[in-house]
Amino acid sequence: MIKINENYLKLASGYLFPEISRRVKSFSTKNPDKNIIRLGIGDVTEPLPPAIIEAMHNAVNQMGSKTDLKGYGPEQGYDFLIEAIITNDYKSRGVSLENTEVFVSDGAKCDTGNLQEIFGIDNVIAVTDPVYPVYVDTNVMAGRTGKADKSGRFAGIVYMPCTPDNNFVPELPKEKVDLIYLCFPNNPTGAVAKKEQLKKWVDYAKANKAIILFDAAYEAFISDNVIPHSIYEIEGAKEVAVEFRSFSKTAGFTGLRCAFTIVPRELKAWTSDGKAVDVNPIWNRRHCTKFNGASYVSQVAAAAVYSADGKKQVRKIIELYMSNASLIVGTLKKLGFEVYGGVNAPYVWLKTKNKMTSWEFFDYLLNKANVVCTPGSGFGAAGEGFVRLSAFGDPVNVAEAMERIKKI
Ligand SMILES: *Cc1c(COP(=O)(O)O)cnc(C)c1O
Repeated sequence: MIKINENYLKLASGYLFPEISRRVKSFSTKNPDKNIIRLGIGDVTEPLPPAIIEAMHNAVNQMGSKTDLKGYGPEQGYDFLIEAIITNDYKSRGVSLENTEVFVSDGAKCDTGNLQEIFGIDNVIAVTDPVYPVYVDTNVMAGRTGKADKSGRFAGIVYMPCTPDNNFVPELPKEKVDLIYLCFPNNPTGAVAKKEQLKKWVDYAKANKAIILFDAAYEAFISDNVIPHSIYEIEGAKEVAVEFRSFSKTAGFTGLRCAFTIVPRELKAWTSDGKAVDVNPIWNRRHCTKFNGASYVSQVAAAAVYSADGKKQVRKIIELYMSNASLIVGTLKKLGFEVYGGVNAPYVWLKTKNKMTSWEFFDYLLNKANVVCTPGSGFGAAGEGFVRLSAFGDPVNVAEAMERIKKI
C-alpha cells in the first residue's frame, strides 16, 4: 500500500487567492457592467524592456545554430551571469563574493522553499507573522511542524508578530530558534529593516548557532540610502546568513524565470555531536542533484539587466511602480487611513477603518470602489485588520482606483 506523506494533509488547501477569485467572480457576475481594478496581485504588469528582449533574441538565435547551441549548462549558472551579479549587486555595496558562493536558479520561490531540506528535521523554525506562505508550508511538508490551530498557526513554529508597534520588524524570539526566515523589503507589509535592526539578528544567529534565510526579492525597490540591500552589508553576516534574490520583481521576470541564492563559504551548520559542517558544499550537492540549471536564454536575459541600457530601462519600470505606490500612500493618508510601506517596497499595508476585519474591508472595497485588494489575514494572524495593496499595475488604473476610493 502506497502511503501518502501525511504532512501535506496538515496544509489547508490554498485558501487566500482562490477565495479572492471566488468573491471577485461572484461580484462581477452580479455586476457585469462594473470595471474591476485589481490591486491585489503580486505580479508585474509592465513588459520586459528592449535591452533584455534584444539579448534574448540573440540567445534564441544561438540556440538555433549548430555551432552556438547551448545544451546543459553549469547547474550553478553561467559565469557571465554570476560575475555580473557579484560586480553589480555586491561589490558595488562593499561585499566581496566568490563565484562558487552564487547559485543561479529559476526562482526564489523554489530556493526559499528548498533550502530547508539540507537542515535537520528537529530544527526550530522562526517566521514573521504576517509571512510569505512558502517558508511555512515547505517546513510543514518536510514534517517540521505539528498541526495548525484555528488561526492557521502550526504547532512547533515560532511566529514573530510584525505590527505597527515594532515597525513591522520582529523582536528577537524569547525561545531558542535555529532557522530564521526574514524578508526585507517585506512582502506583504512593505516594511524595511535598518542596519542596526539586522545586526541584532546577525548577533542572535551567531550567539545561538542559528542560520538566517534572508529573502531580498524586493531589494531593487529600496529608495532610502540608509537601508541595506543585502544582509552581507552587516559585518559577520556571511557566517550566519543565506540570501535569496530574484529577477522576478526587479526586472519583470515572473514569466521568464531567473533568480539566485548566495550561500557563503563561511556559513556553518552543526552535526548532532557538535562538529561544524560547511553549508556551501552541501547546498551545491543538493542543487546539482535536483536541478539542472536555469535556461540559457533566461540567464542571458538576466545578464542584460546589468548592461548599461538594461539598468536604465529596468530602473524606469521600478520608478513607474514606485510612483503608483506613492500615489496610493498619499491618497490613503489624505483620507485618514493608517498606511505603511509603499516607500521602499511595491506593497502598501493598509489598516482597515472602523475595526473591519481584512475580509470585511476586502468586500467593502470591492463593492463600493470595485477595487480588489489582498486581505492581510491571509498572510497570518497578525495580518488581521490589514489589507495589502500592490503597486504593480498600470498607472492609469491605479489613479482610477484612487479616485474611486476617494468617492466612497
Ligand atoms: C515574488 C517573491 C519572490 C520571487 O519568487 P520567484 O520564484 O523568483 O518569482 C520571492 N520572495 C517573495 C517574498 C516574493 O514575494
